[in-house]
Amino acid sequence: MAYKRVLLKLSGEVFGGGAVGVDPRVVSSISEQIASVVRSGVQVAVVVGGGNFFRGAELQQGGMDRDRADYMGMLGTVMNCLALQDFCEKAGVDTRVQTAITMGQVAEPYIPRKAERHLEKGRLVIFGAGSGMPYFSTDTVAAQRALEIGAEVLLMGKQGTDGVYDDDPRTNPQAKKFTELTYDDYLARDLKVADATAISMARDYMLPMVFFSLDTPGNIERIVAGETIGTTVHA
Ligand code: UDP
Repeated sequence: MAYKRVLLKLSGEVFGGGAVGVDPRVVSSISEQIASVVRSGVQVAVVVGGGNFFRGAELQQGGMDRDRADYMGMLGTVMNCLALQDFCEKAGVDTRVQTAITMGQVAEPYIPRKAERHLEKGRLVIFGAGSGMPYFSTDTVAAQRALEIGAEVLLMGKQGTDGVYDDDPRTNPQAKKFTELTYDDYLARDLKVADATAISMARDYMLPMVFFSLDTPGNIERIVAGETIGTTVHA
């Protein structure tokens, strides 16, 4: 295996299969993929997005205060966490959810040292509720959590796209995919696959990021085994 400990970021859109809410078939299939990586001995932590329920920026456009809208966004991520936990446990992997907003009935609070102990014991750890703070994205939280728990790479799992392109491939069929890209190039091109705060944090602490598609089963396993797929963003 190329890595001992990885942080996987799952966008909210992955959970809904492109729609609002959670599609159990999609979550089940992703859980099977994660379970087989955990069984191979790689320590896996996951940061979950919430765009399939609410995005603060969109609610703000509808007239809501941004901070309250962002809290709704963070709460949405927790529903995805519970769905993922359920299917990962059904796939045979002991799983703990830790949330940045305390909600003791459904999850542990975020305690980084405890998260690391879970990982050492072969448990999957899922981080929910973002950072607990408005004005952040779960991409940025993924970079922060990866650094704090000492993950060697940040795996950015996407739905409907298989990497970073120089333009939106959904609207521009001529868009070109990058195999690799430096942090500075990414920022200079103002690309939007992950937000700039996440990329600049990864750059400051030299955390490599791999953007890849979750639509092809087995991709997470391929990356942890050392295969180059998608787009790698590095120094
Ligand atoms: N959010 C937040 N603080 C955080 C993480 C997330 O306020 O630390 C809110 C924000 O409104 C965001 C929403 O939660 O739009 C859902 O997260 P995100 O958009 O990052 O999810 P994804 O795009 O990965 O589905």
